[in-house]
Amino acid sequence: MAILKFQSARETVIEQILLRRISPPKPETVPLLDSLGRVLAEPVRADRDFPPFSRATRDGFAVRSADLAGLPAQLRLIGQVRAGCAFSGSVGAMECVEIMTGAPVPEGADAVVMIEYTREHEGLIEVQRGVAPGENVVWQGSESLQSGLLLPAGRRIGYGEIAMMAAVGQQMVTVCRQPRVAILPTGDEVVELGVAPGPYQIRNSNSYSLQAQVASLHAIPLPLGIAPDREDRLREMIAQGLQADLLLLSGGVSMGKFDLVEKVLAQLEAEFFFDGVAIQPGRPLVFGRARGTFFFGLPGNPLSTMVTFELFVRPTLALLAGEPAAPLIFLRARLTNQLRRKAGLTAFLPGFLEGGYHNPVVSPVEWKGSGDLPSLNRANCYLVVPEETAEIPAGEWVSVLPR
Ligand code: AMP
Ligand code: MG
Repeated sequence: MAILKFQSARETVIEQILLRRISPPKPETVPLLDSLGRVLAEPVRADRDFPPFSRATRDGFAVRSADLAGLPAQLRLIGQVRAGCAFSGSVGAMECVEIMTGAPVPEGADAVVMIEYTREHEGLIEVQRGVAPGENVVWQGSESLQSGLLLPAGRRIGYGEIAMMAAVGQQMVTVCRQPRVAILPTGDEVVELGVAPGPYQIRNSNSYSLQAQVASLHAIPLPLGIAPDREDRLREMIAQGLQADLLLLSGGVSMGKFDLVEKVLAQLEAEFFFDGVAIQPGRPLVFGRARGTFFFGLPGNPLSTMVTFELFVRPTLALLAGEPAAPLIFLRARLTNQLRRKAGLTAFLPGFLEGGYHNPVVSPVEWKGSGDLPSLNRANCYLVVPEETAEIPAGEWVSVLPR
């Protein structure tokens, strides 16, 4: 079967989902703050001009900039305007109006001179500095005209989007329905949390990391319980999982005698797009579609499960939730110590990123391989090593994926 390189595996996932996604997600309407983290189903437009009037951005005096050709200039004060009010008259030659931040600039004026550059002198306002036309003013409609597009459909809602919708008075928001994600851990040795593990058994951590990752993307996790390494029961549970919008399996996708996931999926007439990716950790990753539902067979080692989720399931859930495809965003940092390894796989190694704006540095965290969950929790990022690279000298700039 097909083993793809990292980039082409990601492209395959995105292409297949865009091509065969059954239908765009259905909309539902929720109160403004409940929309946080969800995806807009409808665009948000300006209900009026932004700003709705030409707004002063400083405390000072509204003036005609041409009147300040000769300095200092002596202007006649004809009134005052504060935020929330308007000045009813018009500013004429060698006149000014005292103005506060957020107030509308009176007719006739074309700039605001800051209070710091003025003083009262013999009943007049003396201005010591000139201003360019438009200085300290944001003109009506210059940020957006009425009915202009402020947020497109498909936008993930964060605090900026919440502010924008509040600013147009939107108390209810139409968002995309959340994808439901079935989670099916497999393995005869895997036991539930409430059960005391036997000496050779291990607790089911993957189901929980996956539920946490799914929930962090505001999708709905549906944990299905642990499937044994037995074809009949595995088939039943996979069939159940395929009723969700996406099925995530963990374990059972390597070359072992009891790795039955692919075999059982094939019995269910699955189509496989790839069953391996040249990455470390996570090489045995499987991606396909059965009964109209996409599935991932994630490798069972805890770090493999988590990393392959971040690299492949995350973009899948974004698309299924109604967001457009977006590239992964990497940071850059200098490597603290030399790194050596056998080339051939794109690696996402546990790393520790520190330093500030001026000197971001990353060091590899010592790990015992893709089952080493304690090492992940000493790391705060994944250090990316390109496929063909066998050695990176200390001090070199490398890519880092934050975790
Ligand atoms: P597998 O991919 O089934 O060969 O499993 C690889 C390794 O991951 C084995 O050491 C398993 O015991 C471990 N593993 C499999 N499933 C889980 C799980 N749900 N939670 C934690 N570890 C797991
Ligand atoms: Mg297994």
